[in-house]
Amino acid sequence: MKFEFAALPWQIIFGAGALQRLPEELDRRNLGRVLVLSTPEQRHHADAVATLIGPRSVGIFDQAVMHVPTTTVAAAHELAQSLEADCTVSIGGGSTTGLGKVLALKYDLANVAIPTTYAGSEMTNIWGMTEDGKKTTGRDNKVVPRFSIYDPELTLDLPAAISGPSGINAMAQAVVNVTASEPNPIISALASDAIRALAGSLATVVTEPHNLEARTQALYGACLAGAALGTGVTSLHHRLCHTLGGSFNTPHADTHAILLAYSVAYNSAAVPEGTRRVAEAMGVADAAQGIYDLVRQVSQKTNLQHIGLTAADLDEAAAIATATPCSNPAEVTRTSVRELLEHAYQGVRPHS
Ligand code: NAD
Repeated sequence: MKFEFAALPWQIIFGAGALQRLPEELDRRNLGRVLVLSTPEQRHHADAVATLIGPRSVGIFDQAVMHVPTTTVAAAHELAQSLEADCTVSIGGGSTTGLGKVLALKYDLANVAIPTTYAGSEMTNIWGMTEDGKKTTGRDNKVVPRFSIYDPELTLDLPAAISGPSGINAMAQAVVNVTASEPNPIISALASDAIRALAGSLATVVTEPHNLEARTQALYGACLAGAALGTGVTSLHHRLCHTLGGSFNTPHADTHAILLAYSVAYNSAAVPEGTRRVAEAMGVADAAQGIYDLVRQVSQKTNLQHIGLTAADLDEAAAIATATPCSNPAEVTRTSVRELLEHAYQGVRPHS
């Protein structure tokens, strides 16, 4: 066995009620002037954080939106400067965490994350921002939060329609690393446990949103899946999701949820051992079919037509996705990708 592994500078505080640790953790790091970040929908969470940290909070920016537009970054930075903030605390999903990361990247503003979805962005060094409709991404350890607080109680009000796809988005980060061409054993171990935790909890999360044990398992799975993405690889699956999101404006988590079973089926012959490990972690006989069945339990959107794709879009999507080389266990050709997309468009049961 030969491998290399470099962990990111993660500092994680996990558990029901962990949010209460925020004031002392800020003090420990001399982060005294905090700008709280949220989406407009989660303003109540931002208000609760501001109240909890008292005078350390110098303001709230509640305009975080999907894909981190540069105009939003500029507005948040201007507010941070005028308030002399020395740190941001993002409370929310990947969109809010993403804003804190870009502020850290561009302006060296320390960032803290309190995730409330299963996106897992707080565990990665990946940043992304959008200018004039074009998304740029990169990796930089500077964007890894100073610390992250995972409090499953904050996820109890995450609607089922967001929870299910968001959980499958996390699972995708783990699955692509277990089924990589040359899986890294440490990342694969993290990822397998992520799959186990998510597969064992997501159905309960959507039927019993206030089940704290299921929410805890799902959030733990998301944390591990983010760790796998942060230190591991992406493959054709992520290329396809970014193609559909970037060029056809499809919703991030739903796109992952719809495509994952087909991405696994596509690679299964090339990486049989990794595919078997995914099935084992899920407790099913066949990985692609297990994911297909789970998605139908936890999400209403199960084919590409449900997120606005038309049959005419599929040729263009296949062309864009294969325009540049993509690292993936199975060979990537325009014809085979077009076929994958056709299956996802029809929502047919995948065959490994
Ligand atoms: P999101 O952050 O846009 O959140 C979706 C919606 O859910 C928002 O309206 C939000 O306010 C609401 N919400 C979040 N938590 C809630 C809660 N507990 N209760 C009620 N409502 C809640 O979506 P997301 O799926 O979390 O993140 C997607 C974004 O994250 C994408 O832009 C994606 O590119 C990015 N992402 C980045 C990475 C990375 O490593 N950089 C990883 C994963 C995702």
